[in-house]
Amino acid sequence: KYKSYPYEHMQKIREQNISPSLRMYYKKPLLLHQGHMQWLFDYEGRRYLDLFAGIVTVSVGHCHPKVTVAAQKQLARLWHTTNIYMHPSIHEYAEKLTSFLPDPLKVVYLTNSGSEANDLAMFMARLYTRNFDIISLRGAYHGGSPYTLGLTSVGLYKHSVANGFGCSTTMLPDVFRGPWGGSHCRDSPVQTVRKCSCSEGVCHANDQYIEQFKDTLNTSVPKTIAGFIAEPIQGVNGAVQYPRNFLKEAYQLVRERGGICISDEVQTGFGRTGSHFWGFETHGVVPDIVTLAKGIGNGFPMAAVVTTKDIASSLAQNLHFNTFGGSPLACVVGAAVLDAIEEDGLQKNSEEVGTYMLLELAKLRDKFEVVGDVRGKGLMIGVEMVTDKTFRIKPPMCINKKDVDFTVEVLNTALQKHMERAAAK
Ligand code: PMP
Repeated sequence: KYKSYPYEHMQKIREQNISPSLRMYYKKPLLLHQGHMQWLFDYEGRRYLDLFAGIVTVSVGHCHPKVTVAAQKQLARLWHTTNIYMHPSIHEYAEKLTSFLPDPLKVVYLTNSGSEANDLAMFMARLYTRNFDIISLRGAYHGGSPYTLGLTSVGLYKHSVANGFGCSTTMLPDVFRGPWGGSHCRDSPVQTVRKCSCSEGVCHANDQYIEQFKDTLNTSVPKTIAGFIAEPIQGVNGAVQYPRNFLKEAYQLVRERGGICISDEVQTGFGRTGSHFWGFETHGVVPDIVTLAKGIGNGFPMAAVVTTKDIASSLAQNLHFNTFGGSPLACVVGAAVLDAIEEDGLQKNSEEVGTYMLLELAKLRDKFEVVGDVRGKGLMIGVEMVTDKTFRIKPPMCINKKDVDFTVEVLNTALQKHMERAAAK
């Protein structure tokens, strides 16, 4: 039997001893006890299907046995060395992780969080190019540290403190919300209902968004820039996808200005998009830096910056130190996560189950007016409700079609009730 925890008592502790900035998303958040693969259990033993995976962090499944055993074994041996000593785990992991990445992305710097990884990516971009300005897309979330907050462009996360010197945002090429539509322009099994004037092979919507990008280059930054950062599919903003070719053309424009291109793979990496292991591959581009976090450790706090030898050496002109990054514990966990993705066939599962889910959800869009858009790729899914909310569906990659049927049935019932209530008003 579970030990009972009085909910009200914990709420009181929360009020007194936990930072109020750590806001819960729910009116009455679940009090969780245990996790197993795609399932979570509360203190009453009730089971929940986890469709959010700790904000896209649990990649291979809660407490995946392979990852848990690897961590337990290492916990009993050695946790920490700092990078001034050698340990095999970091070498094995760096070699393994980079085997998943194309040339010339072969040099790894391990950190502890996504914000820290993006901080470091900005730092390297500036040191390497000797330029300062970095461009990001509106709607992006790249971190909450004062450096990365300049790139983050979601009003809810902005604060009135000095941040973002040298950071400019540019228009989000959103084929659902944007002014030019894009009814067959995104790389998803489900296209938006927002019509566009694109003709076979020519995407006019993309041309318009690229014009906006050029406008930012011409008006908001100097002639030469340090770089551009984007997620392959925007995560926090609700799985927003850009028209095909947008990133390819934007990368070219950035490189013409002396900048480097950073792909934030914090949510899209590790097979989640299904067709490819990395999100950038779905756009046919190779970035100069990739940043990895969340799914990299299946919930263990670790992150990484992977870049080229040249760019990495820009940071070696002087010392740069990270106490916890690349600890033996993190490295064995990271390696076990990569093994689990391969052994459990999770990239293929993301593709199959994700495509099935997207097509099932599209039926809800056709049935219910409040469902404005269904989008995404693999298990990186957004359902935009046309009042003002977006469901983000990014479950552990081990979910199956039965879980999808259950989800769609629950959503169908909830939407049905919502419509009945709205009609009765
Ligand atoms: N990049 C993306 C795309 C993210 O979604 C997040 C976290 N939501 C971050 C960076 C920052 O990661 P962390 O919270 O580990 O600092």
